[in-house]
Amino acid sequence: ETGTAALEVRGLTAGYGALAVIHDVTFTVGKGEIVGLLGRNGAGKTTTLMAIAGFLGKYTGEVLVEGAPLTGPSYRRSRGKIGIMVEGRSVFGTLTVRQNLQMAGVDVDESVELFPELRPKLPLRAGVLSGGEQQMLALARTVGRRPSVLLIDELSFGLAPAVSERILERLRAVATALSAGVVLVEQHIHFAASFVDRALIMNEGLVRAEIPASELVARESEIERLYLGGV
Ligand code: ATP
Repeated sequence: ETGTAALEVRGLTAGYGALAVIHDVTFTVGKGEIVGLLGRNGAGKTTTLMAIAGFLGKYTGEVLVEGAPLTGPSYRRSRGKIGIMVEGRSVFGTLTVRQNLQMAGVDVDESVELFPELRPKLPLRAGVLSGGEQQMLALARTVGRRPSVLLIDELSFGLAPAVSERILERLRAVATALSAGVVLVEQHIHFAASFVDRALIMNEGLVRAEIPASELVARESEIERLYLGGV
């Protein structure tokens, strides 16, 4: 099964109501691979994640998780293999860190092995954690059920670069440990360059280019033009 991609997105068109926001989005994420989704505000990055996760109802195109389509009889099982973490830290501030993990159906021991920073915080209320720690907890909740695919929106939003780096290093370790395919929405090219394997550049709902991480920084001005819609 090593030949099967973690995630295959084929010709995905989706949006809100009758309004299509992303058009014919096609890409593949291998097992253990991190693919960045770059583009300026409104490019359609979040919409792409939501559509893949099946939150946007009707769409055209296909989403396959480990070769199984997200439709038909295997829908429920396949959808359960997708973990999504969106902006705004999805932790319960009045509950302890341990309770937050338990509520997500996560094995606490396993989780603190993947995220050792959380171990000393287990008895604390999540609300007293720093922004970075809350983001780490949100990530632990998302990966705790061992999804095959992780969809992550702006992990570094509002965090100091050093804090984001630590969390993204954890994400890399988790992707490898679980052989999960990761789609990571990231605003900053330089940041993405250190943490993704490839990046898709989105503009106005279209994927304009697919660029290996090693070329991201060198091709920055070209990417900025793509951001602005000039092809
Ligand atoms: P950002 O980084 O600002 O979140 P993005 O690349 O993730 O940008 P999306 O959030 O996917 O972009 O938005 C793409 C387009 O879809 C925008 O024009 C936005 O106004 C529109 N949009 C987003 N959410 C909704 C919604 N719930 N209903 C209608 N239109 C929406």
